[in-house]
Amino acid sequence: MSLKDKICVVTGAAGVLCSALVEALLEEGAKVALLGRTESKLIDLKNRLADKGYDQTLVVAADVLDPQSLKLAKESINKNWGPVYLLVNGAGGNHPKATAPAEQMGDDTAMEDSFFGLDADAYSQVFDLNFKGSFIPAQIFGEDMIEVGEGNIINISSMSASRPLTKVGAYSNAKAAVDSFTQWLSVHLAEKNIRVNAIAPGFFVSDQNRFLLYEQDGETLTARGQKIINNTPMHEFGEPEDLKGSMKFLAGPGSRFITGIVLPVDGGFSAFSGV
Ligand code: NAD
Repeated sequence: MSLKDKICVVTGAAGVLCSALVEALLEEGAKVALLGRTESKLIDLKNRLADKGYDQTLVVAADVLDPQSLKLAKESINKNWGPVYLLVNGAGGNHPKATAPAEQMGDDTAMEDSFFGLDADAYSQVFDLNFKGSFIPAQIFGEDMIEVGEGNIINISSMSASRPLTKVGAYSNAKAAVDSFTQWLSVHLAEKNIRVNAIAPGFFVSDQNRFLLYEQDGETLTARGQKIINNTPMHEFGEPEDLKGSMKFLAGPGSRFITGIVLPVDGGFSAFSGV
C-alpha cells in the first residue's frame, strides 16, 4: 500500500470531517497522530478506531495556535515513530459571534444584525483559527519534511473560499486566505519535494454549521439549508465518508505531479450557476 507506515498528523482530528480523513489514511496503512486541543476527545477517537482494528494511532494534545504545544507534539511523534511525512490541517471552523444574522442589509435590517454589528475580535479569532492554525503547523511539521527531503501538506478549505457565503464573512475570508496560502506554499516548497494541496468540502452537517442548516428540532431545514440543497446539483449534504477518496488521492503517489490545487468535494455546488 502506497501510504504504508507513512507518518501523518491530522489536526482537529476528533472533528466530524477530520475523523473520516484520519480513517482514510489508516485504511491506506499509514500511522496517524491525532492532534487536537481536547485530549479526552482524541482518546475516544483512538478507542473507536482501535475497535475497528486500527492500532497505528497516537494521541497528541496541542493547540494549532500555540507553537510551543505543537513543538512538544512533534517531539512526541518523532520519539515514538520518526519524522512527519504528511500534515493535514483540519482544525478550523466558524464562530456564531463572527456571523452576521442578515444575509443582506435591507431597509429593515437592524445595524447590529448587519456587517456593522460584527465583533472585530470574534472575526479575527475565526481568521486565526483557520489561517494561522494552518500556517503555524505547516512551519513546525514542515521542518521534518525539509530534513527528510519529502513531504505533503493538505489544507482544508471550503466552498466559501472562492465565492463567499452570506453571513459567514470571517470564515469565508479566512478560507480564501487558506487557498492563497496553499498556492503560495506549493510554489515555495516545490523544489524541496514537498507538495501542498487543499480539499474544499461543500456542505456537510457539523457542530459548527448545524445552527445555520437546521431549525432547533434538528430535522427541519432552515431556509438557508433548503437553499443550499436547491443549489447542490446532487441535492444532498455530503457525508464525511465522501471525503475519503480525495484524501487518499492527494496523500498518495497517484497525485505525485499535483501541487497547489484546491479540490472541491461538493456535489456540484461550485459548478452550478443557480439557473
Ligand atoms: P469540527 O468542528 O467537527 O472539528 C474541528 C476540530 O478542531 C474539533 O475537534 C476541535 O476541537 C478542533 N479544534 C478547534 N480549535 C482547535 C485548536 N485551536 N487547536 C487544535 N484543535 C482545534 O469540524 P469538521 O466539520 O471536522 O471540519 C474540519 C474542517 O473542514 C474545518 O477546517 C472546517 O472549516 C472545514 N469544513 C467543514 C465543512 C462542513 O460542512 N462541516 C465544510 C467545509 C469545510
